[in-house]
Amino acid sequence: MQNRQYYLNPYQTVFQAKVTASEKSGDQYHIVLDNTIFYPEGGGQPSDSGFVDEIPVIDVYEQNGLVYHVLPELPKSNLVECRIDWQRRFYHMQHHTGQHLLSAIFFREFGYQTWGFHLSEDYSTLDITASDLPDELVKDAEIKVNRLIQADKSIKTYFISESVNLGTNLLRKEPQVDSSIRIVEISDYDAVPCCGTHLSTTGQVGLIKIMKTEKIRGMTRIYYRCGEAAFRDYQDKFETVAKLALMFSSSDQDVLARVTGELERKRELEQNYKTIKQQFLAYKAAEIVSQTESQLLVHHLGHHEDIDTAQSLAREILALGSFFVLITVGNRVLLSHNLNAEINCGLIVKNHGLPLGGRGGGKKDFAQVYFPSQTELDAFITTVKTLI
Ligand SMILES: [Zn+2]
Repeated sequence: MQNRQYYLNPYQTVFQAKVTASEKSGDQYHIVLDNTIFYPEGGGQPSDSGFVDEIPVIDVYEQNGLVYHVLPELPKSNLVECRIDWQRRFYHMQHHTGQHLLSAIFFREFGYQTWGFHLSEDYSTLDITASDLPDELVKDAEIKVNRLIQADKSIKTYFISESVNLGTNLLRKEPQVDSSIRIVEISDYDAVPCCGTHLSTTGQVGLIKIMKTEKIRGMTRIYYRCGEAAFRDYQDKFETVAKLALMFSSSDQDVLARVTGELERKRELEQNYKTIKQQFLAYKAAEIVSQTESQLLVHHLGHHEDIDTAQSLAREILALGSFFVLITVGNRVLLSHNLNAEINCGLIVKNHGLPLGGRGGGKKDFAQVYFPSQTELDAFITTVKTLI
């Protein structure tokens, strides 16, 4: 196996190595080094980024036991200086080590095995063999995992061969390879075969916050953040809650009850508004009907009204007698009637509205049409008046 300096010292950020092979693939070069600090993608942990002799490393992957570094150009010398993006690596190490801690807690305290792990740019996910995970259990696990961080236990990594008796009761998962097995052990608590990069103590994880859980294929997916990502999230959420509390002249603790109360009040007001508006439209309909002798009623609603109000008003008017109603809202026209005549609202729109540039349509007793400007709308109304 090619030397893997990232196994020996995952904290090393700068390293000198020799280029032992290179292949051109399209516009890129895939180079192999005699030893590397670049972690290739694997086990749910993304690959490292950084520079080889100031040439940006686009990707790092493993194939047939070799680590390939993908570069846009070849280094000028065979002896190169490698530098990893430490901020990215440390984020990976915190979330990967955080996964070990969460997996250990869920197994040792609650009996659930880890099935999958994925590290994203802003959070990580862990799939465990729990078909249902109550909120109380999640909170309990969260407290326990943060206590494991505070205990600042040492984390060791070492290789063992198949012949060595693994017989430690700390081992949570059977190795999947049969030689050169790499074990990651949280002192006195948990051991598991793993190939990623890990922190040297649990304390460096800093903080673990579970964001949410979701059921997925009979298991539970846990979304979580570690370290600075979790802390920044706390900063953001704290600011949001503090602003809300100020807005509602409340304490942080009472703001949820205040917002819930205000939403309930809003729902009641909306319901009252709806009732009052309905009553208003009934009065309005009676007023419109009382002011005309004709079967054709034309009414212009204010620009602040909507087509739903126009429909309600039309219904109220038609409930009072036999009429042809034409109501406008802005450049929109609503037509409706209940006359015992062969008048067809849809056909009126089709034959007289569309030729004027209107868009719309409808049925015998109801239609809508929208005009680009007031001029066409006025022309349409004049035509309708000659038809009824
Ligand atoms: Zn690991």
